Amino acid sequence: MITPSKRIIVTGGAGFVGSHLIDSLLARGDEVLCVDNFYTGQKANIAHHLLDAKFELIRHDVTFPLYLETDEIYHLACPAAPIHYQRDPVQTLKTSVHGSINMLGLAKRLGVRILQASTSEVYGDPEVHPQTESYWGNVNPIGLRSCYDEGKRAAETLFFDYHRQHGLEIKVARIFNTYGPRMHVNDGRVVSNFILQALQGQPITLYGDGLQTRSFCYVDDLVAGLIKLMDSPAEFTGPVNLGNPSEMTIKALAETIVEIVGAGSAVEYRDLPSDDPKQRQPDITLARAKLDWAPSVALRSGLEKTIAYFDGLLSAQ
Ligand code: NAD
Ligand code: UDP
Repeated sequence: MITPSKRIIVTGGAGFVGSHLIDSLLARGDEVLCVDNFYTGQKANIAHHLLDAKFELIRHDVTFPLYLETDEIYHLACPAAPIHYQRDPVQTLKTSVHGSINMLGLAKRLGVRILQASTSEVYGDPEVHPQTESYWGNVNPIGLRSCYDEGKRAAETLFFDYHRQHGLEIKVARIFNTYGPRMHVNDGRVVSNFILQALQGQPITLYGDGLQTRSFCYVDDLVAGLIKLMDSPAEFTGPVNLGNPSEMTIKALAETIVEIVGAGSAVEYRDLPSDDPKQRQPDITLARAKLDWAPSVALRSGLEKTIAYFDGLLSAQ
């Protein structure tokens, strides 16, 4: 069956996840309008589409209203790495709250479906493990991570209030740690940090004792999940966890990356940042049942592609 092509807005489309999402939507035949203010996004992530007649780029800050026509909206605009979202915490909170109000207003005016890129951070430092969507979270409202965590929680509230109050078709994805090519080089996130350190023979910076856990999802798996969620029946709003349930310690991640790169990097222990969650693992029962989705890329294979990407960047310097 041939699905008619749609005009789709992707906010935050010049970022890491957004640019991969745009690749998939264009490959499917859709028209894409990328809306980004380049706060953390990079032109290089979307440069390969600039001559495509089905692709359009608008430099715009979503904290200001936007008047466009579209058939659906993927709302991803928001810095995601702690050092990025903590650089201007007030702007981060505005991006989640004002940005969501503006995009929800646009969706309401046009009567179109809108998807929110929420996050596992809404669970904070979780006391329930693994995290199910029914868990309300354990979030510090006044800490260094709060501008992001509470902003994303407020955005979820806005999405559900627009749904209840205005009958808007919404989709809320709670995204867990995702990695892959096009992660920002200076984003300070663990996968990019460790890969760059290993490739450059620098010490691996382990925060705390390295026994805190995360579960890493390859970006292609995440993008497939986002598209399945957007295309799911109207009555399924989420929130739904999208992530890879294979949990590991940060120390084990460091060892795996060092082994693949074949580096002899030493380990340098540093203080754990404040409010750093001790453990994180998605329960994806709901995504399996409602979206028939589960990640398929093994950590090793995803890391190899990511390492090759960063290696290419370093060689080009
Ligand atoms: P990213 O920083 O690479 O991309 C975010 C994009 O949003 C960038 O292109 C940035 O320039 C743009 N942006 C930021 N503020 C904006 C504004 N006010 N107006 C317009 N554009 C703006 O981050 P990412 O990893 O690609 O994350 C994308 C989305 O997924 C974010 O909403 C993030 O919260 C969510 N998410 C990501 C992860 C992950 O592990 N990568 C995990 C959970 C949730
Ligand atoms: N981390 C680390 N060394 C680094 C960067 C991060 O040990 O160089 C740790 C960090 O303290 C956290 C985990 O790795 O426990 C994941 O950090 P990241 O910033 O990638 O994501 P988040 O904390 O938002 O899940």
